[in-house]
Amino acid sequence: MTFVDIHAHLDFECISNDKATLNEEMKKNNIFALSNTLNLENYIHTKELYKGLSQVQVIPGLYPTNAGKISKEEFEEFLTYLKKHKQEYIAIGEVGLDAHETKDEEVLLVQEERFRKIIELAIELNKALLIHTRKRELKALEIIEEYVVKTGFRKFNLHCFTGKKKYFQKIKELRIYCSIPLTILNTQSFQILVEELPISQLLVETDSPYLHPEKITNTPLTIPQIYAKIAQIKGYDAKEIENILYKNYMKFIY
Ligand SMILES: [Zn+2]
Repeated sequence: MTFVDIHAHLDFECISNDKATLNEEMKKNNIFALSNTLNLENYIHTKELYKGLSQVQVIPGLYPTNAGKISKEEFEEFLTYLKKHKQEYIAIGEVGLDAHETKDEEVLLVQEERFRKIIELAIELNKALLIHTRKRELKALEIIEEYVVKTGFRKFNLHCFTGKKKYFQKIKELRIYCSIPLTILNTQSFQILVEELPISQLLVETDSPYLHPEKITNTPLTIPQIYAKIAQIKGYDAKEIENILYKNYMKFIY
């Protein structure tokens, strides 16, 4: 069985300036990761870095603040590229909504409109979506709900969800996924999220190089620690949790 990190950013030099060595380490520890990207250029660059390496799949994404600021032409180019290269990747991320870095109403509307377009493309291509949402949790959930109701598509994963507890019920109802970061070790809100959600809705992420509880560089090699914490909260043994989370991952992606 494999440990899966569904949300990392492995292009950073601080994680490893030797990607082949990182890949070997991950292989030794049975760890596989999806390297999320922030725009087309970042996708193409990161894919080049991991060409031929078995433990990392790079996926195309458009970070919400980028989605809010690129031109109409650049956004169209992003969508066209994703359609044309659909055989090359297994999911789309990260995408979403963010009102932390900008409060400009017009920019937020552009983000929203483009988030919808990306969701529609993901449904058309049947690709799972890795979603970032900050200070826009309610809006993101409303949009997701619309598509779940309309199409039955449920391959939505909320990464590092820090929304209020009152939204947990909605996430449960929608039967979408939340990926749990390493900061669960010292953050009660993630422990509660794991307690509240059914095990079938959980996935695991590092968001490397970010989200290390000790504020040091994170890497996918910390993934087993998150599995162990979830196992402890949910009352499973190590093998069981690996099995369950692997099945969740497979269901999410395929
Ligand atoms: Zn991220």
